[in-house]
Amino acid sequence: MSVEKHTLAAGTPYATPYYVISSGVPGPVFMIISGVHGNEPASSRAAQGIASRLSRGDLMLRSGKLIIVPLVNQIARRKGIRGNPDLNRTFPRGQGAPARHPLSAAVWQLALRYRPSWVLDLHEANGLSELNSKRVGQTLIISPVSRAHGLAKQIVKRMNQTITNRAYRFNIRHRERAGTSRMAFQRLLGARAVTVETCWSLDYALRVRLQSEIVYHFLRSQGMIG
Ligand SMILES: [Zn+2]
Repeated sequence: MSVEKHTLAAGTPYATPYYVISSGVPGPVFMIISGVHGNEPASSRAAQGIASRLSRGDLMLRSGKLIIVPLVNQIARRKGIRGNPDLNRTFPRGQGAPARHPLSAAVWQLALRYRPSWVLDLHEANGLSELNSKRVGQTLIISPVSRAHGLAKQIVKRMNQTITNRAYRFNIRHRERAGTSRMAFQRLLGARAVTVETCWSLDYALRVRLQSEIVYHFLRSQGMIG
């Protein structure tokens, strides 16, 4: 296994680290991005934690290749804001269409280089999906026709078996929105793309743990970790 740390958008104000973890064994290319929005800290903490565990050798990648961008939008994070413009509306909207922001363009270029078959975009949101069908806190969001549906459903079920407070249970949401990373990855790259959302009102450490567990479930399902 090798772990390389590089810089995305190097030499620009948007520069941010990313990791390429290669198992050396044939398998899926799996991409994790987080911190597309600057005010969703638990998701980035989880992504960084996973990258750090792999870097230290505490976690081994058994097959395939894993690309992790733990904190896409450093500037928005420093300001503690979602980001202006909303980066998750600036991904390419059609074949050959450009990304509308230098950062989403850099993430898109990285994806074009590695061609992931899976992409998780880690976020946080307001509200609890179990209590309000309009809210996306505690959800896995997929597009209505996604091939990720079966696995996402299984993972929601597994997660909910460990969550004792019913209000905190996860649900699947079907959404299609132009300019999101999810739609670009699915429509234009043919990847199985899932947006992971924890709820802001939960304890920070719990959100980090839930985000991490969801990622591990996905990686395990692909035989990439033990
Ligand atoms: Zn978000």
